[in-house]
Amino acid sequence: MSCRLCAPDLGPILSESRLWQLVLNRNQNLLGKCFLVVRRHIETVPDLTPDEWNDLHLQIARSTNMLLDAFQPDHFNYAFLQNQDRHVHLHIIPRYSNPRTFNSFVFADPDYPGHYSVPAAARILPDDVFQELADTFRQSINRLSFS
Ligand SMILES: [Zn+2]
Repeated sequence: MSCRLCAPDLGPILSESRLWQLVLNRNQNLLGKCFLVVRRHIETVPDLTPDEWNDLHLQIARSTNMLLDAFQPDHFNYAFLQNQDRHVHLHIIPRYSNPRTFNSFVFADPDYPGHYSVPAAARILPDDVFQELADTFRQSINRLSFS
């Protein structure tokens, strides 16, 4: 069975380490939604090695700082779900007490601070705007790496 998270085209990679990759989620219903994917195919979280856990901690901090630098979220949800893609990955979901604007697109979080509606409607941005958003996050990562 083919695994979408083992495929070469995961989506825009924002940052990577030896063990994890940070990928921008195609669905931007909450601005900056992204996920960390472990770089080998395992399907259960307890199969992560101590090295992978240690690095995950660093990558979560880096991802959170990236989002804070770019859009100042008010809260974060971190979730291993794996309902659709069994390959171990961690969703990082920024939450906002009031709307943010990027490239004239307004992003609201109407359910804040409660649970968002499930299934929340997908929000797919035009390709050029999506790429520009990925570049914005890469610039935040670079800025943080050199500060
Ligand atoms: Zn996989």
